[in-house]
Amino acid sequence: MKTEDKSMDISSKKLVAMRDAETVLAAGVNRVLIGPKSIVTPSARDFLAQHNIALVVNGKSNGAAPVAEKKSAYPPAQVTSHTSNGRPAPNPRLFNTPEAEAIKKEICAVGRKLWMRQFVDGNGGNISYRIGPNEVICTPTLVSKYDLTPEDLSLVDLDGKQVAGTKPRTSEIFLHLEIYKEVPQAKSVVHCHPPHATAYAITGRVPPNMVIPEFEVFIGKVAISPYKTPGTTEFAQTVLPFVKEHNTVLLGNHGIVCWADTVTHAEWYAEILETYCWTLLLASQLGAPISFITEQQGSDLLAIKKRLGLPDSRFDTSKMKECQLSDLEVPGSIALLPNAGECIAGKPPETDLEALVKSVTDAVMQAFEAK
Ligand SMILES: [Zn+2]
Repeated sequence: MKTEDKSMDISSKKLVAMRDAETVLAAGVNRVLIGPKSIVTPSARDFLAQHNIALVVNGKSNGAAPVAEKKSAYPPAQVTSHTSNGRPAPNPRLFNTPEAEAIKKEICAVGRKLWMRQFVDGNGGNISYRIGPNEVICTPTLVSKYDLTPEDLSLVDLDGKQVAGTKPRTSEIFLHLEIYKEVPQAKSVVHCHPPHATAYAITGRVPPNMVIPEFEVFIGKVAISPYKTPGTTEFAQTVLPFVKEHNTVLLGNHGIVCWADTVTHAEWYAEILETYCWTLLLASQLGAPISFITEQQGSDLLAIKKRLGLPDSRFDTSKMKECQLSDLEVPGSIALLPNAGECIAGKPPETDLEALVKSVTDAVMQAFEAK
């Protein structure tokens, strides 16, 4: 099945940019004729190559089919050049491999799951997958996760520069990239706003441990990062103290972020955390105390977790003195200050409870004294 060659001549243009490349695509041709001195921007070059449109240097022949450029539109498969950060230059070719196509489908399926579970609202939430040392496939900005198609996705390098794909990448990509740079075993990152987990994130509290086995094995201790404006580098870096030992972090006044070995698994962690928070909230309404798994039973769960190769701050027994397996020292509470739930790098929220109690007491005393 050989499709007929259709060409479009833009050889009068000195500069061929993305806008021209899009015009060429819209014209439905598979070859574009450029002048011998035309300059093609890298993004236009990549875009045309992605859509299998050959760049052909025009002007040599009089009617005979022009000869396609010998040089590949892409850098060679063995990339030797390095970016200023010491990483290999991003290879846009990774965006169209069979592996990439499968990942794109998985990202779309997971996006739909997030929307169906009400974990994303409006165009909220984002998903990514690290397909190469300096290449990450990610979701676009301003698209509902329900409506995602593989064509919506793009490829960025670890600095967030888009190297393939037509839709602009998510503005939250820096959060994902900080995690990839910090945790080499992280292959996928999912960020979303599930309501019950986010309820914890807006109160600066974390759920207790040792209530439900699945939560202990797949997540364990949840960390909580301080609030910063979304989309900024400052926000992206708030998770850095936690992500090595936590695959799931509550983002203060925002939502959650999870990383895993696959896109599907990262979404599972979001589900497990959300269901756990929801279940605790429901149990708290029953008027009966929550029963906890014992320390010994908890150790058995941690052993399973270690075998699965999942991270957990509780593996380091030197930290266990201040950080108990369970949080039985606060019986009945389903919302703990992060320094009880997260012993590694967590700080209590900015509201100092003692100072708050003192200010209330002072106000009451003043009211009495005024009488
Ligand atoms: Zn968000």
